[in-house]
Amino acid sequence: MGYGHLDRPAQFLKGVGPKRADALKKLAVGTARDLLYHTPRRYDDASTIHAIDALQVGQDATIRGRVRSSGVLPTRSGLKIFQVVLQDESGMITCAWPGQPWLDRKIREGDQLLVTGPVKFFHGRQLHPREHTLLARAGKAGDGDEGEGGRVYTAYPGTDELPQWVLRRIYDANLDWLLAHAHEEEYLPSPWRERLELAELPEAFRRLHRPAHIHEPEEGRRRLAFDELFFLQLVQALARHRETRLEPGIVHTRTNELIRVLHQRLPFRLTDAQARVLREVSADMTSPARMNRFVQGDVGAGKTMVAVFAMLLAVEGGHQAALMAPTELLAEQHAGKLKVLLEPLGVDVALLTGRVKGRDRDELLTRLAGGDLPVVVGTHALIQDGVDFRRLGLVVVDEQHRFGVRQRMALVERGDGGPRPDMLVMSATPIPRSLALTLYGDLDLSILDEMPPGRTPVKTLLRYPSQRDEVYEGVERELEAGRQGYLVYPLVEETERSHMRAAVQEFERLSREVFPHRRLALLHGQLPADEKEAVMRRFRDGEVDLVVATTVIEVGIDVPNATVMIIEHAERFGLSQLHQLRGRVGRGGGQSWCILISEPGEAAAERLKVFASTTDGFRIARADLEIRGQGDLFGAQQHGRDPFLRFADLTVDEELVSAARRLAREIVERDPELAGPEHARIREVLEARHAERFRMWKVG
Ligand code: ADP
Ligand code: MG
Repeated sequence: MGYGHLDRPAQFLKGVGPKRADALKKLAVGTARDLLYHTPRRYDDASTIHAIDALQVGQDATIRGRVRSSGVLPTRSGLKIFQVVLQDESGMITCAWPGQPWLDRKIREGDQLLVTGPVKFFHGRQLHPREHTLLARAGKAGDGDEGEGGRVYTAYPGTDELPQWVLRRIYDANLDWLLAHAHEEEYLPSPWRERLELAELPEAFRRLHRPAHIHEPEEGRRRLAFDELFFLQLVQALARHRETRLEPGIVHTRTNELIRVLHQRLPFRLTDAQARVLREVSADMTSPARMNRFVQGDVGAGKTMVAVFAMLLAVEGGHQAALMAPTELLAEQHAGKLKVLLEPLGVDVALLTGRVKGRDRDELLTRLAGGDLPVVVGTHALIQDGVDFRRLGLVVVDEQHRFGVRQRMALVERGDGGPRPDMLVMSATPIPRSLALTLYGDLDLSILDEMPPGRTPVKTLLRYPSQRDEVYEGVERELEAGRQGYLVYPLVEETERSHMRAAVQEFERLSREVFPHRRLALLHGQLPADEKEAVMRRFRDGEVDLVVATTVIEVGIDVPNATVMIIEHAERFGLSQLHQLRGRVGRGGGQSWCILISEPGEAAAERLKVFASTTDGFRIARADLEIRGQGDLFGAQQHGRDPFLRFADLTVDEELVSAARRLAREIVERDPELAGPEHARIREVLEARHAERFRMWKVG
């Protein structure tokens, strides 16, 4: 890409110089372009700014004025209060910052300030600023009004070395020039832009930096959000092309020979959602493109049933199918279910885990390699050396997030050198659609958002610690009736600092004092994997009544006889995590209970009420996203200075995500090399601005 104006180092912009350029680097601003993308963090509508004269005690107000005098006021209690008298055309008022004497070094007489906060009564009216923006420095040009039409005030993210007034002067001096060159950034041809109802880039930047109306920044943000999402989707669309389109896949033949029989034998009808997902899967499998499909659905939504039909489709056409699960217990459980469904149809199902050894294992591997074993279920053991297939046509991966991409791919590579098998990945962790489309842009997404009829939803109750004895009585009643249960704690061990109950100590206490006549077991993440499995195995087999655990049971196994779960310090858990935990009960036919114990008056009470009011995992996931924000969901990537998504907000931008994905796929479908002249600009921006992701795409 040619050297554009926006590549100019920030140092050479007006009013910057080497020292300020260094300071700008701390804001991740190195070039003119970065300055353009460094957008205000706050906007104040000038038309809603109050006249000082008219301020009323009790009001929350934003005012703007010049500092007439300032100083630090000591009080008898030792608290130091920074105070200024602020004046506008209408009058004067004292603004006070208790406990912030250092502001005396930042704010001077003659400065222009914009402040927001409550008006209190204290020797007359006083405003206590919650936020303040230093619009202009005393004696320096610019009072913060120029170029803004005087309607919306902007405040930029700054640092100690680059306070607001300095940043504002830098923007005042350079923004016209920056906006004049912002067209260099444009990559979207206007017909597409119009179709998507997006602003042109120079206009988007203008709306963000110099809005004429308080609604304009949002319109500008939408455009930059689209760009972010689009390039992310583009990288993933290219990966998808490479994975599933470049080499031919298997064209499965659907004879219905086995599928019809299973349909007839099932005691229930598929839900509409299952039927829809099966159509999607079937279309993928019978097409020459390789399937790479992600099925998302709550626990119990019937994903495994979908997988079974997909496996039958593979087997009908003469291929083998493999299902990989993250733990031995889950693999055993799947194998058990599959045997019941498939063996009556004459389809053999084998289980391959680390526990299968010696001659059994040898025999199994021989049958697999010889092709006379149609279906195998297993753990990582499936991807070990020596495991070969004859005609592997479908790989199903359960709880996909527990495996790395490499492990998933390893199973796909187990083939016989022919076309690579189709892949279906399943997850019981509902996440909002916008997030799923963003994280798994390279996969095709199927959502099972409907529960089979006739389920009894788990009843969720909120209880205070003072009611713990009653809660234990409830547990005892379930155990008396021959049921089992879980007690969940946020910590493994108590520490001096926290006053929280923890699994290890509670296990001791409960065994001694509360349930001495019951069989309790302790389960937490610091136990070795085989011990954890052993505990769950004993629980599954009914040798343990109560499991005292941390969140390690999140992805556990089905124990239909478990009907009660108590979660202590429930406010400590995220909603999605609570939902995963709760999914461990309610697996049988009868009524199950989930009891959340939490201090009264916790701010989290509202959240817990939302949780108690619904069992819809997708609703809970959306609420979780809104409460916690997307940062948490992207993990570490989001915490850096240059977050993964700066402008896009997955709680509101679902439509933008879908539009970005459609456009990215459309382009890649037509021109996978982005070689056409109409895509040249896209390719340039991709290489120059998304180099990191671009490399990932090329190397793969
Ligand atoms: P998931 O894998 O999504 O947790 P499963 O496929 O294991 O769900 O299904 C959970 C239970 O519901 C199983 O016992 C299964 O037999 C049953 N089931 C699946 N689909 C239906 C349906 N359409 N109607 C009634 N029961 C169903
Ligand atoms: Mg399942």
